[in-house]
Amino acid sequence: MIYIHIPFCKQRCIYCAFYSLATGADKQKYVDALCKELEIRKDYLPDRKIKTVYMGGGTPSILTPEQLAMIYDALQRHYDVSDVEEFTIEANPEQLTVDYLHALRQLGFINRISMGVQTFDDDKLKMLNRRHTSAMAIEAVRNAQQIGFDNISVDLIYGIPGMTLQQWQHNLHTLSMLDVQHLSCYALTVEPGTMLDTLIQKGRIPQVDDDETIKHYNALQQWITDNGFVQYEISNYCKQGFEAKHNSRYWDSTPYLGVGAAAHSFDGCSRQWNIGNVDKYIEGVNSGALAYTAEQLSQKDRYNEYIMTALRTSKGLNKQVLAAYPQYWEVGEKLLTQYICKGLMCETEYGYKLSAQGFLFADAIAADLFCL
Ligand code: SF4
Repeated sequence: MIYIHIPFCKQRCIYCAFYSLATGADKQKYVDALCKELEIRKDYLPDRKIKTVYMGGGTPSILTPEQLAMIYDALQRHYDVSDVEEFTIEANPEQLTVDYLHALRQLGFINRISMGVQTFDDDKLKMLNRRHTSAMAIEAVRNAQQIGFDNISVDLIYGIPGMTLQQWQHNLHTLSMLDVQHLSCYALTVEPGTMLDTLIQKGRIPQVDDDETIKHYNALQQWITDNGFVQYEISNYCKQGFEAKHNSRYWDSTPYLGVGAAAHSFDGCSRQWNIGNVDKYIEGVNSGALAYTAEQLSQKDRYNEYIMTALRTSKGLNKQVLAAYPQYWEVGEKLLTQYICKGLMCETEYGYKLSAQGFLFADAIAADLFCL
């Protein structure tokens, strides 16, 4: 599986802590470097036969169809992409014009669009510094469907400061009308150093209200039941058969190659991440000395990573996998009973999984089960 990072945005959303540039940077130079990196690292993965490709950001839809085609050409030259099951592009609604959508369709290799809608509330979109309106998002989804995209995911955020339960329910109601196949839904987190953090500290935006966030989460749980969706990961919901194949493989610890500035890779034993600076990234690729940092994973690291990722899935922790780490799991196992008694976790034939309420405390429970 291959992840391709496009670290450019038209403007910065106030809550965002990802690496991306909101400048008129030379995107062609970056695309050329990506193509070169795909070549340089063609032997990184144990197998060149690729099953999934995910183009994320930043905002991949900032690239022209010609630039997307160049990247695909590089993939075709250096990998076997004859059997790709899922090729996702992340896109912002304002960029998904009818012409752009037609061009994406004509490219022929993109079969899934993940749209950064975030909310259908215009005031909140403005507050978050998004460039689209609710009407633009609705239109983008409908146009994509009409043009033939039949695997569309929408990103929504709940727990936005000042958003009432009723407003959140209105968001869910709007989503029901759109008939999309997949939903990625996140509670807003205030990352230190973001503009959102500063504005909250200055009192210009209210604090996140945790009680309200829990109400939103509970409304979401009701919505997924009423709308025939399944929750297959803490933040991911879909209609039967539309789980994101690419992301699901991250949670199974499948090796992946990540290309682009700040992209991460995993080869089964170590992780490596490219430098989070577009100019230095391009310079490194062009000089043949890719700038990256690597870390060999110990048994303990791999156990902790497994706890963190598997706990977030609806299947949960697998007993057989845990049995391979007896020295680390021994401590975690003793803590399980209290979570099961509190109704936050339950035991299944497969292993141990979080309940719907347990998902609210996933990070704290994972931290408890970690081996430090
Ligand atoms: S579009 Fe996405 S990556 Fe870009 S600033 Fe907004 S949240 Fe961050």
